[in-house]
Amino acid sequence: MCGIVGFTGAAQAAPILLDGLAKLEYRGYDSAGMAVQNAAGKIEVVKAKGRLKVLSEMTDGGSAVPGSCGIGHTRWATHGEPSVINAHPHYSRDQKIAVVHNGIIENFLPLKEFLLKQGKTFRSETDTEVIANLLEYYYEQKNDLRKAVRLTLGRIEGSYALGILCADRPDSMIAVKKDSPLIFGFGEGENFIASDVPAILPYTRSVVYLNDGDMVVFTKNAAQFYDAN
Ligand code: GLU
Repeated sequence: MCGIVGFTGAAQAAPILLDGLAKLEYRGYDSAGMAVQNAAGKIEVVKAKGRLKVLSEMTDGGSAVPGSCGIGHTRWATHGEPSVINAHPHYSRDQKIAVVHNGIIENFLPLKEFLLKQGKTFRSETDTEVIANLLEYYYEQKNDLRKAVRLTLGRIEGSYALGILCADRPDSMIAVKKDSPLIFGFGEGENFIASDVPAILPYTRSVVYLNDGDMVVFTKNAAQFYDAN
């Protein structure tokens, strides 16, 4: 088990992500990281091995990573040792897409072979990085992130809760889940995702539990929910 927190709103994202991840520490983890997107769309990723405190100190409590949209992650390694490179978030090859993942992709090896043949490259040993690169592969074809997510979900087998950012869509996020917990929190001019309620309880008590196959596409002011169909 590990933890996911996502935020988009008017406030700075990184301190909220760090605060939320701290509330999920009980779930256990070996490394932590965040991807924060600024208003121009640029996604900055910071990661650290070990305690969340290390990530917090590296980023001055989050203030060194400006931006009001972001995803945070505490990792419990299943594929690849606990390390900075294997910590989440993971970028796609062109760094346009960033992903946090809770779960296990069982068919990641054949997918990795397929993606290598398509010219994609990998930095980590994780199963998660195939998701980032599959998203990029389909996004290049469709130029539509939602479609790219659906096509990616059609290829991956296993369990996942995912938070996804795309450089072309500032302040917007997509979250999906299957066999790993994920909740959505409605705020005032801000919205959240998290693995569990305590992560976002200081900000909202209006929460929905996503079902397997659900997808939510959201900005700070709006959220669209889709089921598997
Ligand atoms: N399977 C992924 C990894 O090893 C995610 C693990 C987790 O849920 O923290 O990186």
